[in-house]
Amino acid sequence: MNRLAGKVALITGAGRGIGAAIAHAFAREGAAVVLAELDLETAQRTAREIEAAVVDANRGTSDTSGGSGGSGGSAARVLAVRTDVTQSASVQHAVDEAQRAFGPLDVLVNNAGINVFCDPLTMTDDDWRRCFAVDLDGVWNGCRAALPGMVERGRGSIVNIASTHSFKIIPGCFPYPVAKHGVIGLTRALGIEYAPRHVRVNAIAPGYIETQLTRDWWDNQPDPAAAQQATLDLQPMKRIGRPDEVAMTAVFLASDEAPFINASCITVDGGRSALYHD
Ligand code: NDP
Repeated sequence: MNRLAGKVALITGAGRGIGAAIAHAFAREGAAVVLAELDLETAQRTAREIEAAVVDANRGTSDTSGGSGGSGGSAARVLAVRTDVTQSASVQHAVDEAQRAFGPLDVLVNNAGINVFCDPLTMTDDDWRRCFAVDLDGVWNGCRAALPGMVERGRGSIVNIASTHSFKIIPGCFPYPVAKHGVIGLTRALGIEYAPRHVRVNAIAPGYIETQLTRDWWDNQPDPAAAQQATLDLQPMKRIGRPDEVAMTAVFLASDEAPFINASCITVDGGRSALYHD
């Protein structure tokens, strides 16, 4: 508890999946969290769940510590803001709202992302643009909105959610890995640019994580059950990851426990990308 106490964090795509798990974990660790999400209703629902969870946790703490007990725990600081990461003005608005509600931004997590999986030569121009607009421009839009304040204050942590597709290629998944390779390039470039101003920029590369994104991919295969089984068979731990397992790494990178980790990427894939197979 309280590893992020006093910090203000904005997480894009935080209505569900990995982003929602990061928002929950950050709030649990004492941060004020802003859920910057395309679908406002989803974001508001997740915000209410976070509020309830934090109040419950605080109530439990005050009960066991012999405090006033039972009168209700302190409220979480949570805000949902409709945000389209493909639009720089929309992301800037979310950062401004965060600052207005809670004060200057300490942490940005660029999590929003979409799967665009095509065959290169049959892919449409729209597929290409859609993928880059969310998966790479979206990350840059977040960084550009958050960095000026962080640089001015001389502190900040940005965490970009990349992918194991940032290093490896699966045929038929074009151009998602091209954009995700770009996320690593952006992370390293900005991490180096702003290291002298004490702003750290890092990435997390998740492997298969159980979210709607992954379930949609299985459901789009000719035999979803066989596709799911094939995915599990290729996992060293014989399971895929959980969103909260990515969130724990995001907490670490966002916190003051990682002061010398910069321009780096932590892979969270149960060892999958280290496994040799044919
Ligand atoms: P989900 O699809 O479950 O969640 C993504 C969230 O991002 C949704 O809430 C979605 O909102 C939101 N979003 C999409 N487009 C935009 C946009 N333009 N502006 C703001 N928000 C947007 O995905 P995951 O949680 O699985 O993925 C999160 C990140 O992790 C992504 O960057 C993904 O590439 C990456 N990742 C995921 C892996 C996995 O196995 N799940 C593996 C490796 C990386 P809405 O529902 O309204 O569209």
